[in-house]
Amino acid sequence: MANGKRKIKLNKQVFSILKGLIVYVLIALAALVFFNQISGGPNDSAKNEVPISQIISDVKDKKLTKISVEGDKITAEVNGSDQKLSSHKEEGESIYKILESSGVDPKSVTIEIKDLSMQQAWIGILSAVLPILILVGLMFFLFRNAKNGAQGIFSFAQSRAKLFTKDAPQIKFTDVAGAEEAKRELSEVVEFLKTPDKFKALGARIPKGVLMVGPAGTGKTLLSRAVAGEAGVPFFSIAGSEFMEMLVGVGAARVRDMFAQAKKASPAIIFVDEIESIGRQRGMGFSGGHDEREQTLNQILVEMDGFTQTDHVIVLAATNRPDLLDAALIRPGRFDRRVVLNMPDLEDRKAIIELHMKGKPFTKDVSIEKLARRTVGFSGADLANILNEAAILAAREGKTAIDNKDLEEAATKEKLGPQRKRMQSEQDRNLAAYHEAGHAVVGHNLSKVDPVHRISIVARGTSGGHTMFPPTEDRSNESKSRLLEQITAALGGQAAEDLIFKDISTGAASDIEVATNIARAMVTQYGMSSLGPISVTPRSMFGIWRGADEGSDMSPKMHDAVDVEIKKIIDSCYKNAQDILRKHKTKLDKVAKSLLEKETLEGDEFESIVGKKKSS
Ligand code: ADP
Ligand code: MG
Ligand code: ZN
Repeated sequence: MANGKRKIKLNKQVFSILKGLIVYVLIALAALVFFNQISGGPNDSAKNEVPISQIISDVKDKKLTKISVEGDKITAEVNGSDQKLSSHKEEGESIYKILESSGVDPKSVTIEIKDLSMQQAWIGILSAVLPILILVGLMFFLFRNAKNGAQGIFSFAQSRAKLFTKDAPQIKFTDVAGAEEAKRELSEVVEFLKTPDKFKALGARIPKGVLMVGPAGTGKTLLSRAVAGEAGVPFFSIAGSEFMEMLVGVGAARVRDMFAQAKKASPAIIFVDEIESIGRQRGMGFSGGHDEREQTLNQILVEMDGFTQTDHVIVLAATNRPDLLDAALIRPGRFDRRVVLNMPDLEDRKAIIELHMKGKPFTKDVSIEKLARRTVGFSGADLANILNEAAILAAREGKTAIDNKDLEEAATKEKLGPQRKRMQSEQDRNLAAYHEAGHAVVGHNLSKVDPVHRISIVARGTSGGHTMFPPTEDRSNESKSRLLEQITAALGGQAAEDLIFKDISTGAASDIEVATNIARAMVTQYGMSSLGPISVTPRSMFGIWRGADEGSDMSPKMHDAVDVEIKKIIDSCYKNAQDILRKHKTKLDKVAKSLLEKETLEGDEFESIVGKKKSS
């Protein structure tokens, strides 16, 4: 894409150079014609070319009043007539001599000798100088073009930072719901930008960089704009990936340019979004462009080190992968402050929902509390999307207010993608019904798995159906027993297929992935296997997690042992799932049958078939 653009640009350049060339050639031609005219002037005005002998005899007969001699050209004015005669004499011969040798007295006619030497000299000079002039002009032209072209290249170096000045719509802290801790920390930054002298009077070192860390959609970008809005200062925003372009050294030049701009506008905020794309640990990964990244990173560090106390520029950066950042970035005097944004908890979610509900009509039965409870694990961005999506759904159905059904559909869509209406064979539906019923029945009989929220065999995104066990509370910790039960419930789908059809389908691939990932983490990170509390970092295929050269701290023997442990966990969970289903086969059949009829079962409908869940 970018390459194509450059090609077009080059073509344009060549074209304009050619255009310039044509102009100069035309000028040169015109000049030549012009000089020709000067030297050939008399030639033109004299229409009658006569031999020199005629001129001589005319002088003798006193027919001429005046003879003008210009080089070898002779122009004669005829007595009593406007007619002019022209002729040529031999080169180097004087007209006087010619007349005398013909026996004519030169004094009998007025002879005017036009001094050609000056004109000739001029022509000589010009004909010598003109090509040089043309050349110089051409070179000047080419040079200017080249410079323009070069500027075209150098304009890459100008930062692409988007500037939000005071006129841009202001975002304030009140536009960010929850995240109270982060706001408190950032209000210090605001204070400083507003009244730097207050801090300096007390000798406080002004923060240079603040790193905002948190999962995607937790409001990092929003919050950093709110900082600028609160402080009322210009806000230069750029994404880390925008520094990276095909030309090496451009990233660094851009950094320089952006910092220069910000310093000019100070007090100001520079916001580098997704900084992990440049601030990656050096010498890591195998992807190309990594010298470029280092140069860019170094330039940021250089610029930040170069801040003086009077610059009043603060760099905010955001990342959701702080683990990838180079240690040099988080040293004191650089991004030494960290503001952590977590996934919103219940109270935060309520606040975010309330904020995004503003300006939208809802039916009376919509409860913020209920929606907040149902959306454990949703980020602020997810919640904002849900409310927007619900409004769209309601509008599409011609409703005047958004109701719970719209919200529920929007929430499901947010996590699982839109419904996919497709033709399913009876066999496929049957399989999907038992698969989902399997998850639900297994989960229902495990005390630590959250209650079933909904079961559906309506295809969404890539899945053929879904069974939802959304968390009912915000958990910061998982226990070994809960993890095992989660694996068991995840395998319940395939276990049911196996039990009922004595065959299994490909529909369980993502369940298996989930189960295996949990099991691997249990073994390698949480010390929840017979290997004991050992942290083993798996050898990654391409050395993405650790430098390829660093290898892994896992011995081949340990590698095998980990595999064995993972398999043990999976096997025992799968067996457990099958045991549960065998024991509750009648319930499994009932749920599957009901699913085939209704396609979707809400939590309470499910419980009316299988009974109330015994909670842990
Ligand atoms: P991040 O940069 O952390 O990925 P963003 O700041 O881009 O997240 O958030 C995306 C959107 O989600 C915001 O524009 C806003 O509408 C919504 N959002 C996220 N967190 C909050 C919050 N705490 N309060 C209000 N809205 C939020
Ligand atoms: Mg962001
Ligand atoms: Zn499944």
